[in-house]
Amino acid sequence: MQAQEKVDAALELLRCARERRLRVKEAIGIISMVTRLSERVLAEGVRRGVIRREGGEIVLLGEPARARCRRRRCDAVCRRCGRRITLCHYLEAGGFELGPYGSECIRRINTS
Ligand SMILES: [Zn+2]
Repeated sequence: MQAQEKVDAALELLRCARERRLRVKEAIGIISMVTRLSERVLAEGVRRGVIRREGGEIVLLGEPARARCRRRRCDAVCRRCGRRITLCHYLEAGGFELGPYGSECIRRINTS
């Protein structure tokens, strides 16, 4: 995935956050599911009107979204934290297929 695509995918995931108000650290926790370019994602999110920065918080604007989640038994490594996982979660958000992730790493995401 190109850097710009990662930024786009991270913003799609942010739109699926369970909370509409996140501490910056929590927002970065979600962004890190896709990329380490958190400042770029946050700046782009503000520019596109996806988020607003308010003090130490990130406020999600617009309608909450859901990521479609598929689970399957596996023997893999979580794309976010690098931990060994045996239940893989693959997320689909805004046309992006992301994963695999362990269950811990997707808990801030609204899934269906
Ligand atoms: Zn993980």
